[in-house]
Amino acid sequence: MAVADRDVLIIGAGHAGAMVAVGLRQKGFTGSILMVGEEPALPYERPPLSKAYFVGALEEQRLYLRKAEFWQERDVEVRVSTIVARLRHEDHEAELTDGTVVRYRHCVIATGGRVRKLSCPGADLAGVHYLRTLADVDAIRGDLKDGARMVVIGGGYVGLEMAASARKLGYDVTLIEALDRVLARVTSPIISRFYEAQHRAHGVDVRLGTGVTAIEGGDHVTGVRLATGEVVPADLVVVGIGILPNTELAHESGLACDNGVVVDELCRTTDPDVFAIGDVARHPNRYAADAMRLESVQNAVDQAKTVVGVIMGQPEPYKDLPWFWSDQYDLKLQTAGLAIGYDETIVRGDATTAPFSVVYLRDGQIIAIDAVNAIKDFMGAKGLIQAGVKPDKARLADPAVPMKELTGA
Ligand SMILES: Cc1cc2nc3c(=O)[nH]c(=O)nc-3n(C[C@H](O)[C@H](O)[C@H](O)COP(=O)(O)OP(=O)(O)OC[C@H]3O[C@@H](n4cnc5c(N)ncnc54)[C@H](O)[C@@H]3O)c2cc1C
Repeated sequence: MAVADRDVLIIGAGHAGAMVAVGLRQKGFTGSILMVGEEPALPYERPPLSKAYFVGALEEQRLYLRKAEFWQERDVEVRVSTIVARLRHEDHEAELTDGTVVRYRHCVIATGGRVRKLSCPGADLAGVHYLRTLADVDAIRGDLKDGARMVVIGGGYVGLEMAASARKLGYDVTLIEALDRVLARVTSPIISRFYEAQHRAHGVDVRLGTGVTAIEGGDHVTGVRLATGEVVPADLVVVGIGILPNTELAHESGLACDNGVVVDELCRTTDPDVFAIGDVARHPNRYAADAMRLESVQNAVDQAKTVVGVIMGQPEPYKDLPWFWSDQYDLKLQTAGLAIGYDETIVRGDATTAPFSVVYLRDGQIIAIDAVNAIKDFMGAKGLIQAGVKPDKARLADPAVPMKELTGA
């Protein structure tokens, strides 16, 4: 058994974990850093997996957050294909699957999430795919033969982006969503209807309000059985029904978990020497009434900055504005703020034709925006949301009035 002493142990070599190592070195941290990652790849960006990388418009090399030399030159040890199997936070120790016991000063849990799996009969047939990792996309691409019929299960961001990318490559796509609208968990019916119409216009067979009861096939998938009894023919199925946070390590160690590893505004778990950030962290967010998890690059990057600040002795509470984007066809959806508990929506433009935006208000105050090909609205709204502005509604509804010129009513 090898024993290693490290100043900082980062568990998970995804976007959040990588940004802690990058940020520490940028701030002049000279201590030792070990980042351990289960996947075989160096830290890379996931967003292009369902977009540019899938359609072949971006090479694998461009996915990596930093080149291999970067980590060597900055003296950041990255151990890939290695799992942190146990955390003993009271002893400041962790055990890796390669047999190493690491004694750390600070530990950062950045273990992200894993895909939620289908549980119906046939779910484990060959040809049923999920999309979270680089290996997943390569497997989907490898399975896509000419003329293949793809069924996408789940009308969230990942499912919709997958459908758009597959259409772009000319495949036949059916999209199945159990709820009565796409993107139901993240946006308003206005945006849902717009995206549903866009997908139909691009030739996707969109099926709403219907569950999947079985995946049909012998060795390989041949179809997807719906709750109505209908079987949709399929050569390949891609499932995008959300993720589960990888909390087991923290939970078994005795750290508080509740649909995520529970952290405070400095991203500290119930042990102040152990942080949790990114998709796995359930954190207090000033834009939401309750603690929550956010699954976004913004959150991963900004929480990494928070941890860097604490380790460097300059703590700054996490209070960044949530923002997100999604690329489908020639549409860029940009979201800022959290559309939770809004009581009014104002559309800038025509909600059937991009560009347009939907602004979400609560008690007259702007709390969020969904901007479709409307970058100026998105940029302008960010400042208004942060400042808690209650704008003049007639001016807000007029797309000719720049967002940034809107002040209190
Ligand atoms: C297809 C796709 C498209 C997306 N598009 C967007 C987008 O357009 N915009 C946006 O903002 N966000 C997007 N996201 C979400 C975004 O990629 C995530 O929010 C972000 O990657 C979270 O980073 P993370 O480091 O917290 O977690 P992850 O990226 O999940 O990284 C965690 C890593 O930790 C590893 N790990 C887990 N447990 C252990 C362990 N015990 N030991 C060692 N390693 C471990 C995992 O294998 C994984 O590699 C997308 C995600 C996907 C999958």
